[in-house]
Amino acid sequence: MRIDLHVHSSMSDGTDRPDELPGRARSAGLDVLALTDHDTYEGWPSATAAAAEAGVVVVPGVEISTRLFGGGVHLLGYLPDPTHAPLADELARVRDSRARRLTEMTRLLTEAGMPLDVSDVLSAAGHASTLGRPHVADAMVAKGYIGDRAEAFAHWLYEGGPAYVPRYALATPEAIRLVRAAGGVSVLAHPWGRGSRRVLDAQAIAGLVTAGLTGIEVDHEDHTADDRAALREIASSFELVVTGSSDHHGTGKAGHPLGVNTTEPAEYERLLERGRQAAAAAGREFPRLGVA
Ligand code: AMP
Ligand code: ZN
Ligand code: FE
Ligand code: FE
Repeated sequence: MRIDLHVHSSMSDGTDRPDELPGRARSAGLDVLALTDHDTYEGWPSATAAAAEAGVVVVPGVEISTRLFGGGVHLLGYLPDPTHAPLADELARVRDSRARRLTEMTRLLTEAGMPLDVSDVLSAAGHASTLGRPHVADAMVAKGYIGDRAEAFAHWLYEGGPAYVPRYALATPEAIRLVRAAGGVSVLAHPWGRGSRRVLDAQAIAGLVTAGLTGIEVDHEDHTADDRAALREIASSFELVVTGSSDHHGTGKAGHPLGVNTTEPAEYERLLERGRQAAAAAGREFPRLGVA
């Protein structure tokens, strides 16, 4: 059984529609994929509707933009109740802040000699529910200012870069508590990837375990072999579930094809078991996921 627990669709900054992803996952030899768009549940219905025909299980998830000690931390929430208002409201707040910063970002780019309107970014974003820097990059590519997303990030959009504008993010422990209150489980996404490495040492992870963290994403392309070995040690010391995933963004991010990293079936079972416990504690029926 091959399991990929971190995949983006065009509802955030991926390029594959959510209804296309199950078929693509099947073609990539996957049995289970988790749809984890940034800060939105919007892709869940169409992805789960396409899952049965493709013969794959879709685990509904979300990659939440959080902040810890001033650093950006991405938190994967699996199986939260989408009708749980406190979490849904926080996600909406993040999405609003993402949309509002586009005015300032396009102004900075325009002043830098690359005229761009918010409407250009919205056209590039299509039907996305969550707007991100990758959509600004796509608008810059469409105008012919740069060649691809990576170039836009390298020169203009990186954190602290000339066209970077910060946005709202909730505190990581608060996000973990909200996911739990919504009957779901939390896994730290690429803890030692860009951005979060600085703030997520073993001591910080210990604090998040206290807040209710269930697992860490160890096998991710942002992690070296040494990173993975050290993160496995940390996971083992806190009895955290160890996951592996692609963080696929379609053609939007090179080097992250579906299934490039996968989660061990035994770890997936542990994650689901913790999910059942969380759902029971929240007084919620555990969602039916189908059989892989
Ligand atoms: P934002 O969500 O607006 O903070 O933008 C961050 C998103 O941009 C993340 O989902 C990354 O996957 C994506 N990203 C970061 N760096 C790059 C890059 N060099 N090329 C393509 N996408 C990137
Ligand atoms: Zn992304
Ligand atoms: Fe991420
Ligand atoms: Fe991601």
